[in-house]
Amino acid sequence: MAKPTYDFAIVGAGIAGSACAYYLARAGRTCLLIEADEVASGASGFSAGLITPPIGLRLQPPMRELMLAAFDLHQELPETLGNGSGSGYELRHGGSVLVATEEAAAPALRSLLDDPVPRRRGARWLDPEQVGEVCPWIDQPQAGGIYEPSAGNLDPDRLTHAFCAAAQRAGARLAIDSVVSLEESGPGFRLRGSRDEYRADQVLLAAGPWTGTLAGQLGFKDSVNPLKGQILRLRLPPPHSAVGFSCPDGSYLAPRPDGQVWIGTTEESVGFDRATTDAARDLILARARRLCARIDQGEVIAQTACLRPVSRDGIPLIGPVPGIRGAWICTGHGRTGMLLGPVSARELVNLILERETALAMAPFDPARLGAASAPSGLETGESQ
Ligand SMILES: Cc1cc2nc3c(=O)[nH]c(=O)nc-3n(C[C@H](O)[C@H](O)[C@H](O)COP(=O)(O)OP(=O)(O)OC[C@H]3O[C@@H](n4cnc5c(N)ncnc54)[C@H](O)[C@@H]3O)c2cc1C
Repeated sequence: MAKPTYDFAIVGAGIAGSACAYYLARAGRTCLLIEADEVASGASGFSAGLITPPIGLRLQPPMRELMLAAFDLHQELPETLGNGSGSGYELRHGGSVLVATEEAAAPALRSLLDDPVPRRRGARWLDPEQVGEVCPWIDQPQAGGIYEPSAGNLDPDRLTHAFCAAAQRAGARLAIDSVVSLEESGPGFRLRGSRDEYRADQVLLAAGPWTGTLAGQLGFKDSVNPLKGQILRLRLPPPHSAVGFSCPDGSYLAPRPDGQVWIGTTEESVGFDRATTDAARDLILARARRLCARIDQGEVIAQTACLRPVSRDGIPLIGPVPGIRGAWICTGHGRTGMLLGPVSARELVNLILERETALAMAPFDPARLGAASAPSGLETGESQ
């Protein structure tokens, strides 16, 4: 029997690919979602799942509108995806404090509240003595902080599975296979996996940090790179609180509904290595200890490592693969892919279907990194 030709082959079932499959399938397109390992086996299964309202740099163009729309979309998603009916990924708005650990840093941090957007969401300045009252995890003196009551977190693995399941309910098919080669063939594309071959009229690359290798086969080189991050999952003695904290250096503590706290993180440019290390564990604990001395009484339950997809200029890549008709890319969301993945997918699908987008998408057009060169036709040889 002849193999089906799908409208779309989507490579990668992380948050980006699963959400793209969902929006395309819901629009009536036939979709094959191809995942090398398991759904959410990349960063989408192991991130901290912080759904943090944007502030500071994240409110600067070109990210401002995307960030704001992403945060708003997350408030609707539990209902859209059927949270509480088996796929519950537990978006909780526990609130969080962005901490000034030193006095010298406090004025600059406080000035972030000059922007009315965080203030409208209820963000407010905390004087030093209020920091530990609002966030009881913090038992060491701090110079102040911004309390963000709408900050939340969710289970990233479950959110990704919820999108994938919703895509399948809308008609998408999931294939577990590693795409090793990709080429234009007649009208459309031929994808060769380690198990099977597939044909699709259009292809959408959402393979996280591995997207660069696949896009390179279409001549779009050096688009995205991996940035490793590690997290510790702990149990800590009381008092517990739903309010977490983060610091301008990128470290954070996120309380989970099951009583665990997740603390992070690192930024390591070490290629595709996903091993956990003692050095990262020590660094994460040392940073957390500056705020929460109780950290040393904690029991480390797990240490995880995963890879963020980071584009060459740090801005997400959402749009056509330059010069290749019918090839699309959705990646490069770096540290905020759980927050941004759904809205990027929604807007990319609007672009693909030539519908009006809710946001100006030109700043995210991959063409800004340069046009594609002649396709190499090389095979990756990598499983993912
Ligand atoms: C430590 C850490 C903490 C983080 N915390 C947060 C946070 O709190 N909030 C937030 O918003 N973001 C956070 N992030 C970022 C977020 O996790 C990522 O940006 C996001 O998960 C990327 O999703 P993705 O779908 O693009 O990629 P991935 O999740 O990597 O998914 C890509 C998928 O493609 C598959 N694949 C790869 N190659 C192939 C192939 N050849 N064929 C078939 N399939 C393939 C992979 O197996 C994988 O499943 C964090 C990241 C890290 C590392």
